[in-house]
Amino acid sequence: AAANIGVVGLAVMGSNLARNLASREGNTVAVLNRSRAKTDDLVALHPEAGFVPTFSYEEFAASLQKPRTAIIMVKAGLGTDAVIDELVRVFEPGDIIVDGGNAYFPDTIRREKAVRETGINFVGAGISGGEEGALLGPSIMPGGSDESWVTLGPILESIAAVAEGEPCVTHVGHGGAGHFVKMVHNGIEYADMQLIAEAYDLIRRGTGRSPAEIADIFAEWNTGELESYLIEITAEVLRQIDQETGQPLVDVIVDQAGAKGTGAWTVQTALALGVPVSGIAEATFARSLSSHPEQRAVAAHLPGPEGEFTVDDVDAFIEDVRLALYASKIVAYSQGFDEIRAGATEYGWSIDLGAVAKIWRAGCIIRAQFLNRIADAYAAEPDLPALLTAPYFAEALSRGQASWRRVVIAAAQAGIPAPAFSSSLSYYDGIRAERLPAALIQGQRDFFGAHTYRRIDKEGTFHTLWSGDRTEIPAVDTH
Ligand code: NDP
Repeated sequence: AAANIGVVGLAVMGSNLARNLASREGNTVAVLNRSRAKTDDLVALHPEAGFVPTFSYEEFAASLQKPRTAIIMVKAGLGTDAVIDELVRVFEPGDIIVDGGNAYFPDTIRREKAVRETGINFVGAGISGGEEGALLGPSIMPGGSDESWVTLGPILESIAAVAEGEPCVTHVGHGGAGHFVKMVHNGIEYADMQLIAEAYDLIRRGTGRSPAEIADIFAEWNTGELESYLIEITAEVLRQIDQETGQPLVDVIVDQAGAKGTGAWTVQTALALGVPVSGIAEATFARSLSSHPEQRAVAAHLPGPEGEFTVDDVDAFIEDVRLALYASKIVAYSQGFDEIRAGATEYGWSIDLGAVAKIWRAGCIIRAQFLNRIADAYAAEPDLPALLTAPYFAEALSRGQASWRRVVIAAAQAGIPAPAFSSSLSYYDGIRAERLPAALIQGQRDFFGAHTYRRIDKEGTFHTLWSGDRTEIPAVDTH
């Protein structure tokens, strides 16, 4: 057996990951793809990689040293199940199967259980960074057993992105923990992108700045606390001129945002866990709203506010938008980390939230300086109840809140949709409120469904006889 690691699935992600692996000292990489052509092409194009091409699962297994370690990079879903079945057939107890695709974490939990019965290890590993990340260094979020981490850890550390000298990979937790964290990463990515898009829209419509001018603003923001890959690429997209029409490319692109489903998974999971991820949810819904042209065409006749929206002090408004963006971003990340903590509790995973922040500092789509602040916050207080209450973030929110409110008011008055900005502000005001109208909701629930309520002044559960004489009686606590 010549190879210490194998890759199955040689489309863009798999072939780049295989090349990344091969470029590291000490690795020899066996490769396999369902259809032969991709394997032939990869091996012919990259003789320097020294790949071991294989054309059947038997040949693939025979080419790997024990414990055999294979990373699957195929179309998520049925493709992954098909490949796992084949690998289980040819692998032996102690071998390691890694799914690097974008699996839905309940599938990973199911697959891990099934594969474990054969004595083979199964590791669901979220990989972020797109094709460039796969080639040059992604952020990797592996789950699975401690036993598999012993073999797999050094291999993944050798190919991961590096942030301040540390590889962007950690053993996130057992079972489906890795794919869970990757899912929330993508949810946060949706929120981050939506917030940036709202900032652009407000500046463009409020100040009349051109996309190229707004690109300069984003480039400037990228030198400060908002520094991130997404801000950086936003400037690049806004600067792009369409070669055919000479227009800014952003004005030529159809304004309907696509989605592959990871945002929706994040929101569905959060709903099931009872975690309010309103920033991620609004970002996901905003993409859905954009993608209903038939409704938008009819609704375009609905009236908006009278008059033109103009801003008096352009520089002050742009600074307000920057601060509103930062404050909303803090809320979105705080909510995302709440979801990871809730998932860890629900599924019995031990997840170090600070370590998660650290492996997102490079390689992945949400990479940013900002993640150092999150890591610091969890290092200072591992059981931090809510990220946004950590001193650094509380200070940033306090500094930004007046701007945040002005921007949300301006958006509402101008008729410019800012669902992520405004819902984040509402979340902030909700979570810090001394009293919430939830008390009234408890009264309503008791009225129509005898759902009972608790009182602020004594222990126990109570019910008011709403359809009787409206006296209050102690209720049997069914919780
Ligand atoms: P695709 O998702 O387009 O999948 C194509 C690959 O899957 C091909 O190698 C194909 O083989 C193989 N395949 C599909 N069905 C089967 C099957 N039933 N049995 C065996 N092999 C099958 O490839 P990508 O490289 O874009 O992505 C790979 C994985 O990485 C996916 O899970 C994706 O979600 C994830 N991912 C992708 C990112 C990206 O930026 N693209 C980023 C992060 C993760 P064949 O050549 O024979 O058709």
